[in-house]
Amino acid sequence: MLRGSQTVAEAIGNTPLIRLNRLTQGLPDSVEVYAKAEWMNPGGSVKDRAARGIVLDALEKGQLAAGGVLLDASSGNTGIAYAMLAPALGFKLKLCLPSNANEERKKTLRAYGAELILTDPALSSDGAILKARELSAANPSWFYADQYNNDSNWQAHYQTTGPELVEQTQGKITHFVAGIGTTGTCMGTGRYLRENTPLCQVVAVQPDSPFHGLEGMKHLESAIVPGIYDGEVPHQQRVCQTELAHETVRRMGKEEGLLIGISAGALVATALEIANEEAKAGRAATIVAICCDGGSRYLSDHFWEEGS
Ligand code: PMP
Repeated sequence: MLRGSQTVAEAIGNTPLIRLNRLTQGLPDSVEVYAKAEWMNPGGSVKDRAARGIVLDALEKGQLAAGGVLLDASSGNTGIAYAMLAPALGFKLKLCLPSNANEERKKTLRAYGAELILTDPALSSDGAILKARELSAANPSWFYADQYNNDSNWQAHYQTTGPELVEQTQGKITHFVAGIGTTGTCMGTGRYLRENTPLCQVVAVQPDSPFHGLEGMKHLESAIVPGIYDGEVPHQQRVCQTELAHETVRRMGKEEGLLIGISAGALVATALEIANEEAKAGRAATIVAICCDGGSRYLSDHFWEEGS
């Protein structure tokens, strides 16, 4: 093997931190907003990190054998990450997901050879979780990865995303803005930042209502609360409207040259809201928004033209 070359699993992480220069116009130079470009992971999302952590830990503990079956529920990105790792690391994937998950996702999953179990769209990601629990009970030899309750999920972010952000901001990060899905990104990175950059605020962002278009994110009050969620980790809880996320996605493409996904739009919008508050208060700030995935995952959605 060539020195410096990597396996797919090793190519996950160490994503760029990109400074926003246009959406931040009018803010003082001392207030900076950065996008953590998680769409640049080999599977195209932040969930590559959690999936790698979950699979490697399960292989090490003997919960998943070579050639064995991994079962989980995913609204898409974790599923794509497992699907990518399955041929690379030698296991089979059975994935429960709502039948209304977008076509790009289903086609991507099938292209990696994953077996899809489609669940009731009215029950959203909770329907997929309930189906996975049922299948797990009926098939005890399968490894049920259970990303919502698996500590390897948040630990992957504690081990990778957290240290990367401290290094990339030279410890100057003042606000870490993360979405709430399984909560792994917020819990793991948040814990690392609390320990290593005590002045940094951990900001958890949720959709503003149970009926929202922020794919991958959860409205905690009305959803099954993930077992790995600890309400003590975030310093702040904020909400974002789907329309504002859509508008921010459109602006990021046209003004910054960054094609981001919808939850990323919600997190960048929240980062800009914080930037304005900090500027008004006369404080310097280094704000990082996790950009969980890229806009190419949502090209068949209808929000791209509105208001543009
Ligand atoms: N945004 C998108 C697009 C996602 O796929 C996910 C994962 N469900 C999240 C945000 C939330 O990340 P986490 O599961 O780490 O809370």
